[in-house]
Parts: sequence; structure tokens; C-alpha cells
Amino acid sequence: MLHTAESINRLGTESAFDVLAQAQKLAAQGKDIINLGIGQPDFRTPDHIVEAGIKALRDGHHGYTPANGIPALREAVAADLGKRHNVSVNPDNVVVVPGGKPTMFFAVLMFGEPGAEIMYPNPGFPIYESVINYSGATPVPIALKEENGFAFDAEAVLAQITPATRLIIINSPANPTGGVTPKEEIDRLVAGLADHPHVAILSDEIYSQMLYDGREHVSLLQYPEIRDRLIMLDGWSKTYAMTGWRLGYAVWPDALVDHAVRLCINDHSCVNAASQYAGLAALTGPQDAVHEMVAAFDQRRQIIVSELNRIPGFRCADAAGAFYAFPNIEGTGLTARQAQDKFLNEAGVATIAGTSFGAWGEGYIRFSYAASIDSIQEAIRRIRECL
Ligand code: PLP
Repeated sequence: MLHTAESINRLGTESAFDVLAQAQKLAAQGKDIINLGIGQPDFRTPDHIVEAGIKALRDGHHGYTPANGIPALREAVAADLGKRHNVSVNPDNVVVVPGGKPTMFFAVLMFGEPGAEIMYPNPGFPIYESVINYSGATPVPIALKEENGFAFDAEAVLAQITPATRLIIINSPANPTGGVTPKEEIDRLVAGLADHPHVAILSDEIYSQMLYDGREHVSLLQYPEIRDRLIMLDGWSKTYAMTGWRLGYAVWPDALVDHAVRLCINDHSCVNAASQYAGLAALTGPQDAVHEMVAAFDQRRQIIVSELNRIPGFRCADAAGAFYAFPNIEGTGLTARQAQDKFLNEAGVATIAGTSFGAWGEGYIRFSYAASIDSIQEAIRRIRECL
């Protein structure tokens, strides 16, 4: 009988991958499946980025790189953040990792242990709660509510801070809700954090370029008063349609950056060189493809939100950012999980139950609208029919 560590049983998962496997199995049996489950752009990585990755391999970039990323890439990240958010970032504080997830894992491992509390959005990206549980810390949900446009309420967050709180995770624009937290609320949170200097912040800004209706992204980097305890996560996966390249980064504060690099060395040594050169081309090359993708998402968003609101029993809030719609489905009489199963098995449409993103997601399901307009319209038609 093998004796695994007890902690491994506390690790959760991201159900989007399970639904993807289920959908692929049904498709292999000949069923026509429309996949609005997994959260990844349906576009190809732009050609000039692919070419830069190929060229790096041809040029012989086959070996290890520095654990925190090649210097040119970290400098390009700092320049990009300067341009987009009007902030000054030292490339030495940038740590390049294989995707968005490693930064979450590292931040939670750095602060989480039994007796510690870590706050996280709920419904939110499922990996936050999973790794908090894994670390042994107590997960303290920040409830995100439809009536607030799924933005967090700064007063409510501040009221939950205790002497044991070590880290607060926030995510805007948000997965799974598409919610964007307004600047006033972020201002209030940052002002209140002055009374709690023992609390660090992980701001997951992976959807920082996907906001609609003229909204502008507010980066937590824009608040100098918390820079010494802020971890800001962003990356290439969503912005440049590069989910499979496994490339992301975070800006770490001086006090934590060496710990982060040590975690990289212990975990993965470095990101593969070709992806890093591709990421460099993404940041320094033309941004037209990004603007085109965001414009396409915006068009689909308007269609899906209005169509979802026309399904009896559905009520869909405005999706202000990212590429997700998160309708309330209580009026159908189905639980979130029943709806997910019914839509997949009877309508051939893959969606994700809101409860996959935490207990506060009951009554909701997530649609990723990173799919063609035709397939979105067909998916909605089939769901209406099966209901
Ligand atoms: N953060 C959020 C909020 C996400 O939705 C995702 C992916 O879905 C990630 C991070 C992880 O991105 P990556 O695929 O780069 O690890």
C-alpha cells in the first residue's frame, strides 16, 4: 500500500479540462459537439510570433536559459508594462514562467501553511482555492455577486482581513464571470490595505487587454503604495493566443523575487527558449492581431449576451471583460451541474458549471465565447431546443 502525503488529497482541479476530455470523447463517437467550455482563444498564434519561435530553434537556442527568463524578454515585459500601464518596472523584478499558473502556485506556496488565511475570488479561477487547500492554509472566499457586476466589494474584502491573513488574490477582468472591478473599488481596497501592512496581494491580470465598451484596465502596479507587497501576474496565453506555448510572467516585489526564482530553479529550471523568443516577438512586434482578436471577441460577446438573455430561465449580466459570459440559470430549475451535463449530452454543447469555480457559482454556468459566431448561435439554438 503506497503512503502518499495527506496534502495531495487536498489538491483540486480545473474542470474545464475534464469537460474538454468528455467533449472530445463524444466527438470521437461521432457526436457533433460545440465547445464553449475551455477558456482559450480560437485564433492561431499570429504568424510572426510562430516564425520567431521557429527561428530561435533554427538559430540553436536549444539550451537552458536564466531561470527568471532571458534578459531581453524581461526588458521587453518591463517596457510593455511601461507603455500599457504607465508604470516603471525593473526587469530584475520580472520572473518568466511556463504560463499563468506557476505564479499562483508559487505565491500561495510562499504564504500558505496551516494557520494562515488566504483570500480568493469565488466564483473564481479554480486553481486559487485548490492550491490554497494544498498549502494547508485556510481559503477565505471573496464572494462575487451578480448585482455588483461580479466586481469585488472593497469594504467586504477589508472586513474579512484578520491577523492570520497573509495574501489576497484578486482577478480583474475575471474568469469565469467576465466581471471587471471599477477603479473606485480598487482605490478603496488599496487605501484600506494601508491599515494591514502584513497582507500581500496577488493581482491576476491575465485578461488585461480584454475589456469592452471603452473600459480601461486598471493595473495594481499603478498604486506605488503597495508595490512592495504586490505580485502582478500577466502573460501571453490569452492576449496572443499562446495557451500551448506555456509562457507567462509576474512582477514580484524586491522582498519576494529571490524566493520566486528559487522556486523556478526547483520546479522547472527555466521556460523553453523557443517560447521565450516567440514571446519577445509578440511584445516587440505589431499589435494588430491583438486588436483584431479583441474586436472579434467584442462582437461575439454582444451576440452571446443578448441571445442568452432570450433563453427562458436565463439572465445574463453584461460581460465587461475577458471572453466569458456567466448567465444565471436558476429560472430553468436546473442546478449548475445538471445544466452542464444536460447541455453536453442532449444539446452537444460544452459549458462549465458555475460550481466548478467555487460554491458561489451555484445557479450559473460559464460560456466561453472564444468561438465563431455561427457556432455560438447554433449552440444557443440547441440549448433553447433541449430546454
Ligand atoms: N488566470 C486566469 C484568471 C485564467 O483564467 C487562466 C486560464 O484560464 C490562467 C490564469 C492560466 O493561464 P495559463 O494557461 O497561462 O497558465
